[in-house]
Amino acid sequence: MNEASQILSNQRALFLSGRTRDLEFRKESLKLLRENIRLAEQEILDALERDLGKCAFEGFVSEVGMVLDEIGLARKHLRRWSRPRRVRTPLSLMPGKSLIYREPYGSSLVISPWNYPFQLALVPLVDAVAAGNCAVLKPSELAPATSSVLAGLISDTFDPAHVTALEGGVDVSTALLDQDFDMIFFTGSAPVGKIVLEAAARRLTPVVLELGGKSPCIVDSDVDLDVTSRRIAWGKFLNAGQTCAAPDYVLAHESIRQGLIDGITAAVNEFYGTDPASSPDFARIVNDRHFERLVALMGSGDTVMGGQSDREQRYIAPTMLDNVGWDDPIMSEEIFGPLLPVMTYSNIDDAISRIRDLPTPLALYAFTRNRSLERRLINEIRFGTGCINDTVVQFSSPHLPVGGVGNSGMGSYHGQAGFEAFTYTKSVMKRPFAFDFKLRYPPYAGKLKKIRKLIG
Ligand code: NAD
Repeated sequence: MNEASQILSNQRALFLSGRTRDLEFRKESLKLLRENIRLAEQEILDALERDLGKCAFEGFVSEVGMVLDEIGLARKHLRRWSRPRRVRTPLSLMPGKSLIYREPYGSSLVISPWNYPFQLALVPLVDAVAAGNCAVLKPSELAPATSSVLAGLISDTFDPAHVTALEGGVDVSTALLDQDFDMIFFTGSAPVGKIVLEAAARRLTPVVLELGGKSPCIVDSDVDLDVTSRRIAWGKFLNAGQTCAAPDYVLAHESIRQGLIDGITAAVNEFYGTDPASSPDFARIVNDRHFERLVALMGSGDTVMGGQSDREQRYIAPTMLDNVGWDDPIMSEEIFGPLLPVMTYSNIDDAISRIRDLPTPLALYAFTRNRSLERRLINEIRFGTGCINDTVVQFSSPHLPVGGVGNSGMGSYHGQAGFEAFTYTKSVMKRPFAFDFKLRYPPYAGKLKKIRKLIG
């Protein structure tokens, strides 16, 4: 028996014992995880700095803090979320009582990416444990320092029959995908998402896919340009643009194009100084392959801000590109780096149809004071999560489900949505022995007319 199947068989035995479903056990497990995260906080922040050059502020706000918030919310609401929900019973089925139970799947597999390597591994894991599952975590091999801290944290916190981390790359993922998990939660790219979905299809395993895409950022002519520029620059250059929900490109009304370019340039100067390479707050590109890919994309359009790079440090300056064409290479793939193309529109119908022609994005951002434009964008464009007059911040609300649609994924999580992602509904109707109406039993002769009155 290989390691993965041994782990799974131990997890199955623990799950079937019922222990992981016990409310107090779940709350205690999450409490211990929170305590251990607090103890390891410096180690976690150091690992994020080593893997991505992520500064402590970003590491805390966008990684450690989000996991602590998720634990706090789950512990607070678990009892309510877990309670069976009573629903109505139709008159034709009276007397009776109808309940919906939320059941944990069993053993879940969580595969996570490198860009927020702590948070994107642990938020789903918290949801899995909160819901009463066992879990195996496969962190990203491209953030090795964080992967190693995660493995230590998990073995210090959980019985391996409850939660285990298996470090490694594609080979480990592939071996895990070959096991009979009861649920798979994957965060990463669309091509690998398809591999995961194919593996899941072979066993009819339920999946959640959290993927990425080219998230547009529309800027109307009536906005506060200072605030808009700062919020776009922050969301784009956070983690050096390696954020799944970062604004991928800006689509600005042509009347404010130059004002926006100036505003974003000023915001970048304010955030990172005139030489962002020496700013302690600006992250680095994760590896050489992504560095080379991004340098090649810099060839699109005209550089109006940044453009510098340093292979040794894997540094790419916050860069803005003007006069980019819709057919340029930078518009044909998710950028996932600090390059911001600024496109323009004069007619919003054209802008909407351009966005609709591209694969469905994870996020949509729009800056406008125009309520009817806001409604149109929300109604007419397919996306999973969005924000009006800001970028990325919606991700940090545990009350808003996070997830994509089509090319950007399926299913959602965070907070109650996360609890629901790791449970299925078990519907149960309970009926008394009394009042056994004969109307439904054969022989049916003469009964159709009466039953019609009860149904529909
Ligand atoms: P990736 O798909 O390359 O890797 C993700 C995970 O899958 C890693 O653990 C990796 O080891 C594993 N993996 C890679 N190739 C595999 C294969 N052939 N078979 C099985 N497993 C495999 O993604 P990445 O480069 O780590 O992350 C970047 C992508 O993730 C971007 O597209 C980004 O938009 C997306 N993303 C989405 C979200 C979200 O919340 N929706 C969050 C972060 C990142």
